[in-house]
Amino acid sequence: MTAALGTRDPRVALYPGTFDPVTKGHEDLIRRASRLFDQVVVAVAADASKDTWFPLSQRTELVEAVVGDLPNVRAVAFEGLLIDFVLQEGAGVILRGLRAISDFEYEFQMASMNRKLDAEVETLFLMTGESYTYLSSGLVREIFRMGGDVSAFVRPEVIHALNQRLGPDGSGS
Ligand code: ADP
Repeated sequence: MTAALGTRDPRVALYPGTFDPVTKGHEDLIRRASRLFDQVVVAVAADASKDTWFPLSQRTELVEAVVGDLPNVRAVAFEGLLIDFVLQEGAGVILRGLRAISDFEYEFQMASMNRKLDAEVETLFLMTGESYTYLSSGLVREIFRMGGDVSAFVRPEVIHALNQRLGPDGSGS
């Protein structure tokens, strides 16, 4: 359910990202957030500056496949300015994950900028689950491309998509 434009419900959290592809680190964060908020909207960003491996629709479907069992979570594709989409969804909270100190500077900048754009929307950070501190979508793509086993990092649905994207031998299609 989308709230009326202009409302910012603190019980609704929006978790934006590229999810190229969604990892078990993302999943862990979404599952924990689903216990904290009434609704979690996973906002899958269009390829603004990044060259993504997977198209927007597939990245969104994969998130849906991984967390589709959670009744208060949905995945939505979005394009354009994040803060506009936050308002469109009626969310009061932007959720981000922090893995290491190296995430901090960029996240701090983004959170500050989003507060300038709309002071009523809070950015909240969840620390990564400890088994996932090192995990990123980029690393998964890299390991998979080199023929490594990524089953500890992503769900089978994602491995299937990776195989389709590159072929099991990593040769590309
Ligand atoms: P972006 O390109 O916007 O950083 P990502 O899909 O890489 O999008 O990440 C989305 C969010 O999820 C970011 O806040 C990122 O810090 C967080 N995140 C990514 N990987 C993990 C992980 N392993 N554990 C916790 N949070 C993570």
